[in-house]
Amino acid sequence: MLQFIHIDFLDVIDIVLVAVLIYQVYQMVRGTIAIRIFLGIFAIYLFWKIVEALHMELLSEILGQFIGVGVIVLIIVFQQELRNFLLMIGNTNFLNQKLLRGNIFHFGKKEGEEIPMNVDEIARACINMSESKTGALIIISHSHDIDIYLSSGEIIDARISSALLESIFWKNTPLHDGAVLIRDNTILAARCVLPVSENRELSASLGMRHRAAMGVSEQTSAISLIVSEQTGNISTIKEGKLKENVSKSNLVIHLKHLLKQG
Ligand code: ATP
Ligand code: MG
Repeated sequence: MLQFIHIDFLDVIDIVLVAVLIYQVYQMVRGTIAIRIFLGIFAIYLFWKIVEALHMELLSEILGQFIGVGVIVLIIVFQQELRNFLLMIGNTNFLNQKLLRGNIFHFGKKEGEEIPMNVDEIARACINMSESKTGALIIISHSHDIDIYLSSGEIIDARISSALLESIFWKNTPLHDGAVLIRDNTILAARCVLPVSENRELSASLGMRHRAAMGVSEQTSAISLIVSEQTGNISTIKEGKLKENVSKSNLVIHLKHLLKQG
């Protein structure tokens, strides 16, 4: 009965490559608003294929036209993500990191579980900066969704250490302004400019540092960590949820908890 299905070696390669492509695109848009657009277009595409298979000519023609224009819409909506994707493919380290280590799908694992984030060093830096009332803004992510902000700052690419973080945010140094981006135990960049949240419910006492921290958490799955220059308070924001004045003794546990949520 299923004789009409012929699967040869090339078909298998075809399916695997499509799976890799979809997975990489998903990784890139995960936690961003773009995921909803991605899923919406994917649903329309599936619907179109079903309608086509059922030979519903008129609907299939209309949806076909829509999908045709949809490609252009996709390019416009996902221009940042496409840029990152092409950059990632052009990165010669990509093959070494993903294919040779055999972890292109991270089977059964979350990215964060592979490389434990050095939370202790980050927390120690924040506690020291809180005591000296040094303002800081640190964005921690496990995925590539923060890469779009890298180009606005200064690339650092160094292992996390509390001394380095404190030096970066030390007043009047060239790098102290803006945000530090962290992924997989690496300080990627400093002095990054982030999008500012337009949330009107945010307290008026919170200034631009807190609004930028909120802006990132609205657009990505990253954790924003803020040390206030005015009060020395340490706050975190994830997915738009602000936790103000995290106690120093609880900071490591709180950060680990946020990181575990993925
Ligand atoms: P604090 O409690 O530390 O005063 P705040 O929320 O009141 O924080 P501001 O005093 O308005 O914030 O901002 C201070 C710093 O926040 C700036 O010097 C800059 O380093 C950082 N900052 C402001 N806007 C952005 C942005 N869009 N992206 C990254 N960093 C920003
Ligand atoms: Mg202020």
